[in-house]
Amino acid sequence: MIEEKRQFKKERTFVMIKPDGIQRSLVGEIIKRYERMGLKMIAMKMLVPTKEHIEQHYTLDSEWRRVTGEKTIKEYKDKGLQPPSEDPLEITATILKGLKKYMASGPVIAMIFEGAHAVQIVRKVTGGTEPLTSDVGTIRGDYVLDSYQLSDNDGRAVRNLIHASGSPEEAEMEIKHWFKKEEIINYRLVQEQILYDVNLDGILE
Ligand code: ADP
Ligand code: MG
Repeated sequence: MIEEKRQFKKERTFVMIKPDGIQRSLVGEIIKRYERMGLKMIAMKMLVPTKEHIEQHYTLDSEWRRVTGEKTIKEYKDKGLQPPSEDPLEITATILKGLKKYMASGPVIAMIFEGAHAVQIVRKVTGGTEPLTSDVGTIRGDYVLDSYQLSDNDGRAVRNLIHASGSPEEAEMEIKHWFKKEEIINYRLVQEQILYDVNLDGILE
């Protein structure tokens, strides 16, 4: 039980600032949003990914092609629009092509954040995939204006500043894909005391 609790507070998620986030000078702004939630950054690096690395990243989850295609079709229909195809896999083949071009177009910043509910908290602050419909107050909702319609019409990926893992399982696969073990740093952050300590007995002198 104690072991289970400790792991719970150490959930990890993989976050990447995509090339447009860097070109829009939003690196500090984006990191600040995760940092101030109380999450601990345990790895970070800047690199220009290859198209192969991007394809592998998106297909680590064997269900990604189907789920992403279905999600896109649903979003179109919810808006009363005609999706570009009724076949989810056909849609994702096009998305993946666009994603490889987008994500390998310049430097990205890859990071790992750790803390309670890291995956869900990061997704909440990041906002939904399509900036047009992401909630106001989220990073994607506040800092960018792209839509499925606009990007699909131009045959490119939706530019939404950030990638963030969708589940703890996806996070573990993505962390292994982007980071070597020795690039991940184990350290104590003093604020964890106020976030997680049960007795709060270290404050008063
Ligand atoms: P998320 O990044 O929110 O987890 P997905 O995993 O569904 O979203 O898709 C991965 C990325 O592919 C998105 O962030 C976006 O850049 C791009 N994308 C998703 N759906 C579409 C689409 N219909 N048209 C163009 N690009 C898309
Ligand atoms: Mg995803």
